[in-house]
Amino acid sequence: MGLAPLWRLRSRPSAAKVAAGDWIALKQAVPACTACGLHKTRTQTVFGVGDEKAQWMLIGEAPGAEEDRLGDPFVGQAGKLLDNMLAAIGLKRGENVYIANVLKCRPPGNRNPEPEEVAKCTPFLKQQISLIGPKLIIAMGRFAAQTLLASDASISSMRGRVYKYEGVPLIVTYHPAYLLRNLPDKAKSWADLVFAKRTMASL
Ligand code: URA
Repeated sequence: MGLAPLWRLRSRPSAAKVAAGDWIALKQAVPACTACGLHKTRTQTVFGVGDEKAQWMLIGEAPGAEEDRLGDPFVGQAGKLLDNMLAAIGLKRGENVYIANVLKCRPPGNRNPEPEEVAKCTPFLKQQISLIGPKLIIAMGRFAAQTLLASDASISSMRGRVYKYEGVPLIVTYHPAYLLRNLPDKAKSWADLVFAKRTMASL
């Protein structure tokens, strides 16, 4: 893999222009992206973090204030809970795990992402998935699950089954930020993680 050609640097590459299989071009394209209005309000893009050959990939919604400030996904309170959830099934951020979001920029005031923002940003996520080649994706929360599965079903109805996204097995669980507000559902998310672990072992 060589350096990206100069035209890519000069022409602010969009997701569509980044050739599949090219991490360098993708890592240049995301921070340069101006495809939707979120570039005007972001502090920085939040690309994703972890083992670029991970078998596990976790996908959330969009960066919040802390993530926008620091440039990494899930670094706030929800991120601490996520790290604990990973530890509970013997996983550690960065070790055989990759964490990303559907959106790479923070929606101002933590509003819900708009369909146009999702449409412009998902090609980046698809490229990350194809470069990483995870064995299993966990979609965290209603927004990630509904976007990735093109569904309007509730999380509770989507849990406990193995779906496919871009050919990769995918399971659905609650978003850690939701769990912080709804502690009783932590038990269900624990069941989802056990299910994920069992699913991974069978792949
Ligand atoms: N919530 C998300 O969905 N992603 C983050 O990175 C942080 C909070």
